[in-house]
Amino acid sequence: MKINGNYQKLEENYLFTEIALRTKKFCAANPDAPVIKLGIGDVTLPLPEIAADAIIKAFEELKHRETFRGYGPELGYGFTKAAVVDYYKNYGVELAMDEVTIGDGIGSDIANVTDLFEKGANTVLVPDPVYPLYKATSLMDGQKIVYLPCTAENSFTPAPPDCPSDMVYLCSPNNPTGATFDFEQLQQWVDYANDCSAVILYDNAYERFIEENDKPHSIFQIKGAETCAIEFGSLSKTAGFTCVRSGYTVVPMGLKANGISLNRMWQQRQTTKYNGAPYPQQRGLVAALSPEGMLQADKNIAEYKKNSALIANVLQEKGIFYSGGTNSPYIWFRCSNGMNSWAFFDFLLNEANVVGTPGVGFGACGENYFRLTTFNTYENTEEAMERIRLIIS
Ligand code: PLP
Repeated sequence: MKINGNYQKLEENYLFTEIALRTKKFCAANPDAPVIKLGIGDVTLPLPEIAADAIIKAFEELKHRETFRGYGPELGYGFTKAAVVDYYKNYGVELAMDEVTIGDGIGSDIANVTDLFEKGANTVLVPDPVYPLYKATSLMDGQKIVYLPCTAENSFTPAPPDCPSDMVYLCSPNNPTGATFDFEQLQQWVDYANDCSAVILYDNAYERFIEENDKPHSIFQIKGAETCAIEFGSLSKTAGFTCVRSGYTVVPMGLKANGISLNRMWQQRQTTKYNGAPYPQQRGLVAALSPEGMLQADKNIAEYKKNSALIANVLQEKGIFYSGGTNSPYIWFRCSNGMNSWAFFDFLLNEANVVGTPGVGFGACGENYFRLTTFNTYENTEEAMERIRLIIS
């Protein structure tokens, strides 16, 4: 047996495991400390009612002989794909049904799509700091990683490099920095990818949080993206589906490598290795993406945005440099008091009993930065920021 030795390249200590360990140790030593967690990016508000009802109704159908269903189509039911196609029309993007596949959240699709690319043979641009999945899968595949520094100087929205590459991961609005590409910046990336025949793997998990008009909601709003981009859309943060699990992937018909259709390859991959997203989740997705579903989902997002304001106000008051919050549920800021990311983590935990995420855990360029999320309750966020206000300068 020959194992995939690339797994040995993965980092030992996963960021959130280390955070959990330090938090557990602190709580054991200080059992009465009123710890507030603004760390992990998981939602807290319930599902839009219309989506929850659709999921329950779908399970009801499965209880009866007349409405029972067995295996569904591997790539998603037609009615689900149609809902995604309709959703994109909101942004002026026309998709063909066959360009859309339905999955169980995009974490798996982003990882699984790497099956289409030869292992150990591609140069991959990975932003730094980065959502850890892109780096981990590139390492597992033995690809050559070139890091793309996302810094205060480039407002965490880097321009394409001078050198060519084969694959590019972009996430906008970004996790962890909250920064969001505008149309012009994304056009530069699309032009770059078309020029060097690279594929852009575009993580659109936070699209629904965008409120500024100059920010695209889909890479397919950009001219030329249909020949160089794959887009991943998730219901996790949009509509609170983190435990339900639902998302979609768009691989355009025009995307080809050496004349071979990546859409066809992705269909081959999914029909071979995946048996389709669960029916109730798909009904939930359809309901969530409907106009009424989006109204309800947007109400939750508006709640999270109130927490953004609480966090941003304190950082502004203290004159601390930050990004995010406006178009994303994350606020990324420079650690105060000259501390590095982990020292600041310990400082916040010990002095304010608040748990956040050290920026360096997302990559070397994240050193001296820190991420807070807006997913806790208003009351907890208010209390956490009041405590933080008293100790940072
Ligand atoms: N991409 C980004 C940038 C994320 O932050 C997350 C989850 O936190 C995911 C993908 C995973 O999304 P899903 O829940 O759809 O698998």
